[in-house]
Amino acid sequence: MDRDTINRFSRLAFLCILGGVSIGTALFFAPDMFSLQDGRPGCDTPIHWRLGDVDSRFPLDRDAFLRTVIRAEGLWEQPLGKELFVYDPDASFVITTFYDDRQKMTYDTRNLEKKIDQYNRSAETLRDAYDAKLSAFERDQEALSHRMREFESDLSAYNADVSRANASGGASPETYDALEKKRKKLEKERSAINKESERLGKMADEVNATAGKLNIQTASVQQNLTEYRRKYGEPKPFIQGLYEAPLTSITIYQFEGKDDLRLVLAHELGHALGIDEHVQDDQSAIMYAMIGGQDLENPTLTQGDEAAYETACPAEPESGRDALVRYLIETPFSELSPRAAAKAFRG
Ligand SMILES: [Zn+2]
Repeated sequence: MDRDTINRFSRLAFLCILGGVSIGTALFFAPDMFSLQDGRPGCDTPIHWRLGDVDSRFPLDRDAFLRTVIRAEGLWEQPLGKELFVYDPDASFVITTFYDDRQKMTYDTRNLEKKIDQYNRSAETLRDAYDAKLSAFERDQEALSHRMREFESDLSAYNADVSRANASGGASPETYDALEKKRKKLEKERSAINKESERLGKMADEVNATAGKLNIQTASVQQNLTEYRRKYGEPKPFIQGLYEAPLTSITIYQFEGKDDLRLVLAHELGHALGIDEHVQDDQSAIMYAMIGGQDLENPTLTQGDEAAYETACPAEPESGRDALVRYLIETPFSELSPRAAAKAFRG
């Protein structure tokens, strides 16, 4: 998710100042030179770069980071068929890292995602258990209430029989035995119902405990989410890498691992090659402004990327004046002494 508008603005501002101030002087020293002796870095000669500080809080160590820069170079060099970048510990152009909230957020995001993942798995198990327990409870509760209705009706029938017997001056021994048998059966059923009711009470406790567990976990993950949002706000694009022209530095602010780092590096190296404008309308392009649509595992230059390079490094020879203006624009102040200019335009 790189948006280096800041970079482009500062580059444009820089171009205006440098071009305006220096052309007259240089023309005075070298009025009729036609080509740059050294060629244009990134077009005719490779860009030399060195590795600056790789903050140890990033997920790759210095060696892995260096290897990733070299792989990023290859994304341009292989399809274009020329050496565009050279690792050179003495180069002034530096590729470096800067650790801040962006990378910290990456780790916090990863931890939060892990927590949410664990929660989802645990919640699914708990919800399944809850559903199973609840439906077993409801089934048994239904059966119990049916049993209770039958018991009450049998009890009423028994009580009616007893009242009838009492009203007719006492039961005969046969009736007495029959009623006593019924009474014992009813007693037995009453105690069975009580037992079952007790079992259902325990079942209800279990259902509630499962729901409680789920609710506690939900509240906890909810709290994690709230804290994360309070800290970082809603998701929004941020700059992962930044190229500072002319051939000053590439700073990497954020990456997940070597795949997205390679893409961000390849993108910023594209700016170093002179590609100022992002490729529009093709999210798979390395020079698209945002990361996401590219193939992280097997990134390749798109037609748009190659066209952008062609624009930055036109094949047709340019006029001496254009070459001079470009030289002035691309040469850092420190190197822009009349002597250096004269040397550069000699021959
Ligand atoms: Zn960019």
